Amino acid sequence: MTPYIDTYYKQTLSSDAAYPVLSGRHNTDVCIVGGGLAGLTAGFELARRGRGVTVLEARRVAWGASGRNGGFVSPGWAARASQIQKRVGPDHAKALYRLSIEGVAMVEDAIRDLDISDAQVTPGILRVSRYENTKALEEQRDEQEAEYGRHLRLLAREEVRALLLSKKYYQALFDAASFHFHPLNYARALAREIVKLGGSVYEDSAVMQVDLTGTEKKLRTPSGEVRAATVVFAGGGYTDRVLPALRRAFLPIATYVVLSELAPELIATAIRTKAGISDGRRAGDYYRAVDGRLLWGGRITTRTTDPRDIAAVIRREIVTTYPQLADLKIETAWSGLMAYARHLMPLIGPVMPNVWACTGFGGHGLNTTAIGARVVAEAIAGESDRYRLFAPFGFVWNGGPFGTAAAQLTYWAYQGMDFLRERRSAHAK
Ligand SMILES: Cc1cc2nc3c(=O)[nH]c(=O)nc-3n(C[C@H](O)[C@H](O)[C@H](O)COP(=O)(O)OP(=O)(O)OC[C@H]3O[C@@H](n4cnc5c(N)ncnc54)[C@H](O)[C@@H]3O)c2cc1C
Repeated sequence: MTPYIDTYYKQTLSSDAAYPVLSGRHNTDVCIVGGGLAGLTAGFELARRGRGVTVLEARRVAWGASGRNGGFVSPGWAARASQIQKRVGPDHAKALYRLSIEGVAMVEDAIRDLDISDAQVTPGILRVSRYENTKALEEQRDEQEAEYGRHLRLLAREEVRALLLSKKYYQALFDAASFHFHPLNYARALAREIVKLGGSVYEDSAVMQVDLTGTEKKLRTPSGEVRAATVVFAGGGYTDRVLPALRRAFLPIATYVVLSELAPELIATAIRTKAGISDGRRAGDYYRAVDGRLLWGGRITTRTTDPRDIAAVIRREIVTTYPQLADLKIETAWSGLMAYARHLMPLIGPVMPNVWACTGFGGHGLNTTAIGARVVAEAIAGESDRYRLFAPFGFVWNGGPFGTAAAQLTYWAYQGMDFLRERRSAHAK
C-alpha cells in the first residue's frame, strides 16, 4: 500500500488502517474518482441520501492536498471577493459567499455529528495585515456584520504585536467562528462513515481508463472495473489525463508547509495565541502553534517538482517575520498540489450527461470542497440546482505551458505589489 508522505498529520494520525484495492467488476450508483475531501464529502453526502457510492482513490484516502494542508477552515473562495463580483455582479457574488460560509458549517456539523474528536478543532483565525490598513479592515468587518451577520473583531497594532511579536505586523481581524484542525483525521473519518453507510472506498486503485459514452459508465483501474450510472471526478491537483477536457481546465500549483522541532518556550517568544494566523498577502504565510511546534505554510510555485530545500525557502519567511526564531529547527517539510482554474473558482458542474466535475478548489479548499460536493450531491439526487451558481466559471483552457508561465508571472506581480505596500507602511512610521 502507498504510504502517506511524512507530515505533521501523518505523525499524529489516529489510525492508518487501509482500504482494499479494487479487484474484479463492481456495480454502483455513483462512482467517485479521487478520495480527497471533495470526493469523500460527495460520497458522504450521497451515501446519506441512500445512494450506492464507490470511491476510487489512486493512493490513500486524503493522500493529496486534503491530508497535508494548513488546516485553516474559514469562509471564502480561492478567488478574491472583488474578482468574483466583477464577473458575476454583487448579488450572485453574495450568494456564492453564503455557500462558502455553509461549507464551514458543514465541516463543523460533520465533526460534531460523527463525533470526530481527533479532528482536533482549535477555534479562531487571525488575519494580520503587513501594512497600515485600519480603514480597509473596518470596512471588511462592517460588511461581514451587515451582509452575513458574522462578527469579526478588529485588533489595533498594539494588540496584534502583543500576540505576535513581529515588527512586520499592523492591524488584524479576528474571526472566532473560523478554526483550524487536523484535516487527515477528519478526511479518514468521512471515509469510515461512507463505508458505515453502505458505500465502498478503495485505495491504490487509480482510474486509468474510462468509457463514459453509454448510460452505464465504465471505469477501469489496474485490477478492476466499476460500472456506474453517474460519475464524479474529484482528482484535485493530482487529476491526470483520464478525462482530457478536465485536465486542460486547471493548472497544478505547488505550495509548501514545514513543521518545527518541539520548542514551546522559543515559539512563545514570537507567537502568543492558539489561533491560526494568516497574513493578508496573496499566497502569503499562514501558520499556527501545534503541540509545542510551529506549523508554517506559504509560497506557491508552478513547479510541480519539489525544490531541493523546501525547509530553507520557508525558513527565510519565518525568520524575516520573527528574527527571534532564527535558531528554530525545521524537522519536517512537505509540498502539495492544488488545482487552479484560470478564474480561480472551482470547476463544479456536468461535463457530460451524468458525469460531474467537483474540483479546482485551489488554496482555499477546506470549506469549499464541502459545499462544492454538497451541491453536486444535491444535483445528482435531484434536490437542487445550486450548482448552477458556478456556471459562469466554466471550463476554460488553462493555456498549457503558457498558462503555467502566466500564473507564475501573476504571482510574482502580486508579490511585487505586496512588497511595495509594506515598504510604504514601513516608511510612513
Ligand atoms: C500545502 C497546502 C496547504 C493548504 N492549506 C489550506 C488551508 O489551510 N485551508 C484551506 O481551506 N485550503 C488549504 N489548501 C487547499 C486544500 O487543501 C485543497 O483545496 C483541497 O484539499 C482539495 O481537495 P480535493 O479533494 O479537490 O483534492 P485532493 O485532496 O488533492 O484529492 C484528490 C485525490 O484524487 C486522487 N486522484 C487523482 N487522480 C485520480 C485517478 N485517476 N484515480 C483515482 N484517484 C485519483 C489523488 O490521489 C488525490 O488523493 C492547501 C493545499 C495545500 C497543498
